[in-house]
Amino acid sequence: MTTPASAPETVHVHTLRVCCDGAGDIRGGAGYKAAALGHPRVWLEIDERGYVDCGYCDKRFVIDGTPPDSDTGKPGH
Ligand SMILES: [Zn+2]
Repeated sequence: MTTPASAPETVHVHTLRVCCDGAGDIRGGAGYKAAALGHPRVWLEIDERGYVDCGYCDKRFVIDGTPPDSDTGKPGH
């Protein structure tokens, strides 16, 4: 597959629920302050296609590996 040129950035994630604030990184801390260059933090949910695009910065979040069929909580480590 080829990556569309319209996708400025692709981020591989391990969870179906991701948060994006345009700061160029995935943040999950409650005390995190949004960067000046970002956008309001939004939560996105990856659907059956295996990816989701942020409506603000067009960043694409792609599930890394096989999308989990069942929500088993935290990945084992
Ligand atoms: Zn974004």
